[in-house]
Amino acid sequence: MNKKFMTGLDLLNHLNRTYLKLHKAYERAFWTSYMGDHSVDKRMTIAQKERDNFRSNRELKTEVEKQILKSKGETKRRLEIWNNFFGLFQIPLSAVSIKNEAIELESEVMKKRTTRKEGYIDPVTKKFIVASENKMRVLMRTNQNEKVRKACFESLEKLAGECVSDYVKQVKQRNKFAKVIGYKDFYDYKIHIDEGMSKKELFAIFEDVYKKTKYAFKNVRKLEKVYPNLRKPWNFSFMLTGDFVKEEDQYFQFENALSYWGKSFNALGVDFQQGSINLDLIDRKGKYNNGFCHWPVPIHYEGGRRIPGVCDFTSNAIVNQVGSGINGIHTLFHEAGHAAHLLNSTQEDCCINTEYPPSTVSWAETQSMFMDSISASIEWKMRYAKNANGKSYPFELYEKKARKIYPLIPLDLMGIMFVVFFEKEIYECKNLTAEIAIKIAKRIYKKYFDRSVDSISIFNVPHIYNWESAAYYHGYGLAELGVEQWREYFLKKYGYIVDNPNVGREMREVWKYSALYASNKFIKMATGKSLGPNAYVKSVTKPLNGILSDAKKRVVRLQKVPHINKAVKLNARISMYHGKKKIADNSKGFGSMDRTYRAWLKTVK
Ligand SMILES: [Zn+2]
Repeated sequence: MNKKFMTGLDLLNHLNRTYLKLHKAYERAFWTSYMGDHSVDKRMTIAQKERDNFRSNRELKTEVEKQILKSKGETKRRLEIWNNFFGLFQIPLSAVSIKNEAIELESEVMKKRTTRKEGYIDPVTKKFIVASENKMRVLMRTNQNEKVRKACFESLEKLAGECVSDYVKQVKQRNKFAKVIGYKDFYDYKIHIDEGMSKKELFAIFEDVYKKTKYAFKNVRKLEKVYPNLRKPWNFSFMLTGDFVKEEDQYFQFENALSYWGKSFNALGVDFQQGSINLDLIDRKGKYNNGFCHWPVPIHYEGGRRIPGVCDFTSNAIVNQVGSGINGIHTLFHEAGHAAHLLNSTQEDCCINTEYPPSTVSWAETQSMFMDSISASIEWKMRYAKNANGKSYPFELYEKKARKIYPLIPLDLMGIMFVVFFEKEIYECKNLTAEIAIKIAKRIYKKYFDRSVDSISIFNVPHIYNWESAAYYHGYGLAELGVEQWREYFLKKYGYIVDNPNVGREMREVWKYSALYASNKFIKMATGKSLGPNAYVKSVTKPLNGILSDAKKRVVRLQKVPHINKAVKLNARISMYHGKKKIADNSKGFGSMDRTYRAWLKTVK
């Protein structure tokens, strides 16, 4: 680097400007690619490398260290943020090319997974029916015909098998990288970077949860006597929740999603701080098949002035598919929770205003999962979720469902632990081959789901193929624990969460620090306690009568809270997209955007 920086402030300005530019270039291409236009893939890969080279730049780190010695006060504090940031990404030259190769492998897998033919063979006509992975998953939960459900399962298994050898190549490349920079394996590296924890600390928490909840597998075996073949993968969700999916669907029509979301966030007092939000909510061929939120323009400062951020988020709702509306609404609340979190930052240094380290997965997911826990609560459903005749979601339906699924509630975290412990074993495996990977996949599936048929469905989890999201699923698990702890705190303090502006206010208080602190410090600031599994375990092992009486109490409490009927004002510029096509925006108000989007949904096939 030839440039000399006279003052620490000069350096800070340079770092912020440069990182913002590199980050933007990558994130813009990333969104285009993930929304289905792969013509930008080459550009995306180059942009990612350029951003990564900046983050791992040794000379910049040395310059920051030099300026720290000369600075004090606020400038010094901010330079320490960048020093920590660069410290997380320092990699020796020999490891750079290893990572670059890993990124190229990833781009190939991504293309394969998004351009392949997806669907199943109709058991009656024997014809191939085109259906996305997401659609087949919904069919497995809801289709009356067992043969169709089984056909979807088999087809999903086949798709899962197609990428195993590519995946093994990716794992080896990632482990090679981790070892060169001094970690035991890629998981060891990721847990250090993403959470600032050790593998030992992390797995001990989940082993504790597993021990305290696995008793419920016995409940399932007992249930199988009532529902023969229940433990077949294509029967499980259908037999236990399939009827409810249909019965509940009328209250969760996707056309109401925007209105539910806008009104609830408004009543909660969420303020997006003048940010711009672009949403692409409907499933499409070639589009990435999992919801996510990212910030092409994170909060940054120009000449001391705060510049609002831009964020994009997506879900994969399938229009007119029974059961898809509730998932779409859930994802909308989830991703909007992410959006609210980082758009509320007041931190001047943009390196802590993105979802990447030092931002932790667990703290980020605590915000989003807290929001989706709101739309999943019975009191929210009874207040907001209405069918076409204006009838509210009935408590009886909640009770009927609770009675049926309550033996399974303790197993709630198994789906997350399944991915966590699979990746742990995969990255710890000495001589991994496709065959061994498949064996591990089946064994872990058995342990965390106890189904009567083997499955390699883990290879359909998109996170495992992507560098940033591989070995990071534990973040969701830690967040689940954090959410329960936060809910317990709010319920104790205020008695209610839905439509409680105090909840929004307290969340904003911690959101403004963005990723300034480690997850555990944030949890303590928010709830007064260190993160632990107690609130979670207490909630999922509660007896049925406790679950029902608590639910009733929360419903009664919310009845005392007045409805907020004023116009939705989220202090954001919101635009609705479908791929590159803009459908609606809120320039004439949230209500007008909602109406235009609803009308457009009717035209989607
Ligand atoms: Zn999330």
